[in-house]
Amino acid sequence: MINSIRGFNDILPPETSIWQQVEKEARGIFAAYGFSEIRVPIVEKTGLFSRSIGETTDIVEKEMYTFADRHGESITLRPEGTAPVVRAYIEHKIYGNDPVAKFYYLGPMFRYERPQKGRFRQFHQIGAEVFGIDDPAVDAETLEMLVSLFQRLGLEGVSLQINSLGCKECRPLYKEKLLNFLQDKKSQLCQDCQRRYEINPLRTLDCKSPGCVEITSHAPSILDAVCGGCKNHFEKVKEYLALSHVNFSLNPKMVRGLDYYIRTTFEITALGLGSQNAVAAGGRYDGLVKDLGGPDVPGFGFAIGMERLAMLLQDNGQWRVDSGQSPVFIVILGDKAEASAFGLIKNLRQNGVRLERDYGNKSIKAQMKRADKLGAKFVLILGDNELASNSVAIKNMESGEQEKVSLDRVGEKLKTLIGVSL
Ligand SMILES: [Zn+2]
Ligand SMILES: [Zn+2]
Repeated sequence: MINSIRGFNDILPPETSIWQQVEKEARGIFAAYGFSEIRVPIVEKTGLFSRSIGETTDIVEKEMYTFADRHGESITLRPEGTAPVVRAYIEHKIYGNDPVAKFYYLGPMFRYERPQKGRFRQFHQIGAEVFGIDDPAVDAETLEMLVSLFQRLGLEGVSLQINSLGCKECRPLYKEKLLNFLQDKKSQLCQDCQRRYEINPLRTLDCKSPGCVEITSHAPSILDAVCGGCKNHFEKVKEYLALSHVNFSLNPKMVRGLDYYIRTTFEITALGLGSQNAVAAGGRYDGLVKDLGGPDVPGFGFAIGMERLAMLLQDNGQWRVDSGQSPVFIVILGDKAEASAFGLIKNLRQNGVRLERDYGNKSIKAQMKRADKLGAKFVLILGDNELASNSVAIKNMESGEQEKVSLDRVGEKLKTLIGVSL
C-alpha cells in the first residue's frame, strides 16, 4: 500500500469536529471585528517569500518546499500566509479606494521541518492581516480579539507576551549595541548563534540553548534602545491593552523568525501538555507592502497554529468532541418497505434529521445491531405491517418503548423527541 508522506498528516473525525468548531468561532469573532475572508493560492513564486520573510531566516534558508515547475520557474508551497495576502492586496490594488482593509484566511502551510509531536510539514494556520492603519489601537484591538477567541474556546492559561522590535531607524543601532555586547562572548555561543552573529544577531536572543540563554540574559534590552516614535507607539499599545482589560507581560528577548516585523511583536501561549505552548504569534509589518512593490501602507497581522490549538483543546479537557446530534436509524424490512423508504428518508434528511440506514435487505437483528453501534436513540421501523396502516414504528432505544406514528406525522414526532428544528 502507499502511505502518506512523512510530516503530512490526516485529520480524522471526531478530531475534525474540533477544527470545525474553532473555525466557526474564529469566523464569527473576526466578522464582529470587521475582517473578511480572503483565499490565496497555496503555491507562489519563490521570490515572494525570500524577499518578504528574509533570505537569512531559517524558513527561507532551509525549510521551504521549493520546486522548479515544468517550465523551470521556481515555485514554493507557502510557508506562511502574510506574504501571499500582501501580494494579493498589491496585485488587486485593494488600497485603491481605501487603504484600510482587514482580511483573515485559513488553510495549510508547508515547511520542511523535523516532524515531531504536534508539528507537521503540512500544518494549518488561521491568520489575519490589517492594512492601512499604523495607529497602536489596531495592535491592541487585534490582540484583544485573539485573546477573546482563545478564552471563548476554553483554552486555559492564555498568556500574552509583547515586545517592540523598533523600526528601520532604531533597530540597526540596537543591533550594533548587541554585537558589541556579544563580541567577546562569541566563542561561548552555540553553533547556530555563532552563524547568526554574522547575519542576524537578534536571533541569538530567542535561542533556547542554555548557554546562549545565560549569556543573552545580560544583554542590553531592545526596549531601552528603541527611538522616540517606537517607544511612544509601544506605550500606547500597552495603555490600550490595559483599557481593554487584556493582561500581558513584556518579553524584550522575543524576536520573531521573520525579518519583516517592526515595532509590536507578540506571542500567545496557553497551558497544556504540561507546559506553556505557543498558539499564536504575529506583529506589525509597516514597510512590507512597499518592499513587495506596493504603496507605503502599514500592516499588522498574526497567525494561529491549528494543530497546536486542537491538541491543547483536547488536552485541556474542557473541550467536548461534538459528533453532532445522535442519529435516528431506520430499519427497513422487505422490498416494498425499501421502495417507500426512499421518499420518507429524503424528506426527513432534508428537514435536518440526521438519519442513517442499512443497505442490502439485512435481517432486523443485523439492522438493530447497526443502529446500536451508531448510537441511535430512536429507531424507525418500516415493514409490511406498518406500510399497511401507512405508519412507521418509533422505538426508544433507551426505554424500549415503541409506538406507531402515521407517516405524515413522523417529522413532527421526531422533532419533539430529538429537538431538531423541522
Ligand atoms: Zn524606531
Ligand atoms: Zn544559541
